[in-house]
Amino acid sequence: MSPLALDEDELVACVACGLCLPHCPTYRVTGLETASPRGRIAAMQAVQLGGAPMDATFERYMEECVQCRGCEPACPSSVQFGHLMEGAREALHDERRRERPWPRRLAEWLGLRLVLPRHWLLILLSIFAGVGQRLHLVPSRLGLPPISLRSLRSRLRAPAAAGTGDVYLFTGCVMDAWQRETHRAALRVMEAAGASPALAGSGSDCCGALHAHAGRMHEARRLARRVVASMPGDAPVVVDSAGCGAAMKGYGRLLGTPDAAAFAARVRDFSEWLIEQPDLALRPTGRAVIVQDACHLRHVQRAAPSVRTALAPAYRTVDTDDDGLCCGAGGAYSVLQPGLASEIRDRKVAAIRQAAGDDPAPVVVSANPGCAMHLAAAGLDVRHPADLLADALDD
Ligand code: SF4
Ligand code: SF4
Repeated sequence: MSPLALDEDELVACVACGLCLPHCPTYRVTGLETASPRGRIAAMQAVQLGGAPMDATFERYMEECVQCRGCEPACPSSVQFGHLMEGAREALHDERRRERPWPRRLAEWLGLRLVLPRHWLLILLSIFAGVGQRLHLVPSRLGLPPISLRSLRSRLRAPAAAGTGDVYLFTGCVMDAWQRETHRAALRVMEAAGASPALAGSGSDCCGALHAHAGRMHEARRLARRVVASMPGDAPVVVDSAGCGAAMKGYGRLLGTPDAAAFAARVRDFSEWLIEQPDLALRPTGRAVIVQDACHLRHVQRAAPSVRTALAPAYRTVDTDDDGLCCGAGGAYSVLQPGLASEIRDRKVAAIRQAAGDDPAPVVVSANPGCAMHLAAAGLDVRHPADLLADALDD
């Protein structure tokens, strides 16, 4: 029996038309069929239906995928590529993880198994990393953003206690450790919109998106169950990380329970929630910002227009002309596939520079912390919509 257990109807839905190819960042930089959605689906079909081995070549084809899901909206047959790739990654994790080099297995165990599910440990390690950065002991090739010790020293506080607010703000793992000021900005904007936001209770350490990307579905489900339990009631759950929001909107399918489906229906991206609030007063700044559509907002949540609508009263938003092509961040992709991630990013940076015209230091807005860090590492000034809106509050 094949170790792949993908939904066969989803697997054979691809008619090999190739319309998705121009929307695939890895196909765009390599020109290779095996690095395209169509080629990857053909490889899955060969393993599951044709008896081909799940070998190192198959693993490479799957691992080169950024999981941006840019192929999905382009597909006339509505192929659920994200489901297929998640299933393939799960099977690869089960079947092939012992073949992987030990440094990678150790790094995954430390990062995904030990640290991310324990937020206190992530904060502690981030403090050590921040001190190390001050002492120039952290090599820049690790790709860590500058960690603000001042921000980490003060706890994030929301106007309402857990369970008493009219909306939750989910703060997650890495973003709370490395971009906590963005959460503070989001809380300020939510309060200015007339809401009384609360933070999640205990158990909200991590949404499990990175675990699902890596095929560690057992751990992803465990974390998802804890997140659901951490925000009881029926208040909306606002998420200011596009990747986390996409994962949490998928909890119904991931956990397969009515409670998880009801929770998922409460999840809203920060901008998506904000544009439904009538009472937010913003000051026009007269500034232009270039919008980078995070794939998990654009292709998975299908909520990218809300960023433009939310910013419109205060900023002039400028689009790139690359039809929302991925920036190459993709969770841990830039660490696991540094060459491809950097080639994909080069294209995105070129599209941003072109949109900026003669502005040598454009402000880029991104709703996803991973994309923001990836683009900032290429020298761009990247801000979150919440940061920009907090700057424009009419107070
Ligand atoms: S998810 Fe993204 S990288 Fe993967 S096949 Fe689809 S478009 Fe290409
Ligand atoms: S657009 Fe859809 S049907 Fe056509 S090749 Fe891509 S995945 Fe297959």
